[in-house]
Amino acid sequence: MATAAASSEESQNLKHVCRQCYKAATKKCSACCGAPNADQSIVDTQWYCGTECQKADWINRKSACKIAQTRKMLYRAGHTLQMGICMYREELFDLFIESVERKDGDIVLVEGWYDSPDLFFPFPSSLFPDEDEKRAVLLHQCCDDAPAYMYKLILMMLQGKSNMCSCL
Ligand SMILES: [Zn+2]
Ligand SMILES: [Zn+2]
Repeated sequence: MATAAASSEESQNLKHVCRQCYKAATKKCSACCGAPNADQSIVDTQWYCGTECQKADWINRKSACKIAQTRKMLYRAGHTLQMGICMYREELFDLFIESVERKDGDIVLVEGWYDSPDLFFPFPSSLFPDEDEKRAVLLHQCCDDAPAYMYKLILMMLQGKSNMCSCL
């Protein structure tokens, strides 16, 4: 079984052509692989037969690869920060949601009555099985405090990268 999987993967890899010498390629540039483009599509994978061809092509690819790497880093930082804000919000959720209605792509949160001095309520995850919808609800009416308190973290994550952002 393992051999079949390996040979299947190998034959798939052989479908790729080296950017530099046009021979069969099995290696890809890991630096920009999977990076998002400005339009949210994914950067085309750059295939090579080996490091020599990758080095030889670097003069042509350097600029695009560096931009892709920077965008990849920015998206990762943004994703991490958004996750942090959502976790903060889920722990300190200040709406008492009784039910939810979905109308024409909108999510309508129906708040219930409560007789409690509590300021925060357990987030009703069971009402939002879809992760995107859950994130949208968590970020809805989100106080600016969380991103503001994360300012130092943002600075740390993007340290030395801010000058590269202008080329994106
Ligand atoms: Zn090559
Ligand atoms: Zn690259």
